[in-house]
Amino acid sequence: MTLLPNSAQARDVAYLLHPATNARKHERTGPIVMARGEGIHVYDDAGNRYVEAMAGLWSVAVGFGEPRLVDAAARQMGRLPYYHSFSGKSSEPTIDLAERLVKMSPVGLDRVFFTNSGSEANDTVVKLVWFYNNAIGRPEKKKFIARQNGYHGITIASGSLTGLPTNHRGFDLPLPQMKHVSCPHHYRYAHEGEGEEAFADRLAAELEARILEEGPETVAAFIGEPLIGAGGVLPPPATYWEKVQAVCRRHDVLVVADEVINGFGRLGTMFACDHYGIRPDVLVVSKQLTSSYMPIAAVLFSDAIYQGVADGSDRLGTFGHGFTASGHPVAAAVAMENLDIIEERGLVANAAAMGEHLRARLAPFADHPLVGEVRGAGLIAAVELVADRATKAKFDPVGAVGAWFYARAHDHGLIIRAVGDSICFCPPLIVTAADIDDIVDRFAAVLEETAAWVAAGRP
Ligand code: PMP
Repeated sequence: MTLLPNSAQARDVAYLLHPATNARKHERTGPIVMARGEGIHVYDDAGNRYVEAMAGLWSVAVGFGEPRLVDAAARQMGRLPYYHSFSGKSSEPTIDLAERLVKMSPVGLDRVFFTNSGSEANDTVVKLVWFYNNAIGRPEKKKFIARQNGYHGITIASGSLTGLPTNHRGFDLPLPQMKHVSCPHHYRYAHEGEGEEAFADRLAAELEARILEEGPETVAAFIGEPLIGAGGVLPPPATYWEKVQAVCRRHDVLVVADEVINGFGRLGTMFACDHYGIRPDVLVVSKQLTSSYMPIAAVLFSDAIYQGVADGSDRLGTFGHGFTASGHPVAAAVAMENLDIIEERGLVANAAAMGEHLRARLAPFADHPLVGEVRGAGLIAAVELVADRATKAKFDPVGAVGAWFYARAHDHGLIIRAVGDSICFCPPLIVTAADIDDIVDRFAAVLEETAAWVAAGRP
């Protein structure tokens, strides 16, 4: 494809390095430049309309072009566009949001630390827990255990917690303190004939064996997304969370729930912890908190951790951590308005109802010759494409069919995400049943084209 000189596409290729993008391939194809959005749709600079069935990056809960969020940002910009929260300073939106998050979150979480991104939030979790354990006199208790295929970000520490080779390869990660146990995806990793609960038993036993092998006195925390998102939409097997939590409690290992994707209604409950009965010591949220209109993330944590850190600050010195934009007042004001919209419009209940509809519409595809598994919970789902349904064999190479599907979906005006060969759906929480039908109809058309392409030997 030739890029018109001086076009946005040509200038993009000339000046940008894109995240999570093959740079050489991008030089040939150029970007799709998005120009505007409205509801669940976005429009590129050529005027083509797309259904955003991924809510951007799993995040635009209230849809695009929501004027109330624009007004909330403008109001706060006019009053106090910026202030920091270092050295005892604060601003009202920051305080309002901290109070609201504590009051709405699962019980036992009493304090908030703000960052700009989910990655920074997970780095903050690591440093908070390290500082806490130093402060209470157990400096050897520092290791984190995460899961393969989990996603927690891309900074040095959060990228180490992430369990995806693509985020480690080439970056000398993970850090040695970060360990990984098996991925809780029943379809891929359960033994032949092993039920969900037996699989959960085995995973809990593996976690306990790993903690004992490392030495419980060296293991600080276990971190997981209640439902794995970016790793391919992987709901845990039944009883998984109650069992791994019991293991963590036995060995005094903190439970960290990363709800950066799951939080604020995605699973049909305000928090996924409510959905799976998780009682975390630390909770991480971002994305749908502002529908991504402004960058912000929050780490919520227990009073016990707060007290240790507060006491420790006397002995270890000030808690020397924070970002210029921690608790940014404009982001906080947008978050408050966004949470108002989620509550007033009943978007959590809508996500539950529309999620049921989405999963009911996708269920019949489980019989399609190209489909290995249809999975999901609440308003997030995936359809895994396989080379052989009987053996669950993946395509070779993994991801080529997913990438083809992704490109064809664009031609059908549909934005999905392909994680390997799993086609993921995570639409805005405002979707209607008619929107879901439109998404699934477009998906079905692309699936037929993909099946024909595969049958023809992928020319
Ligand atoms: N945790 C989870 C569960 C995520 O899905 C993501 C982002 N997809 C992150 C952390 C990192 O967030 P950010 O991209 O804002 O750094």
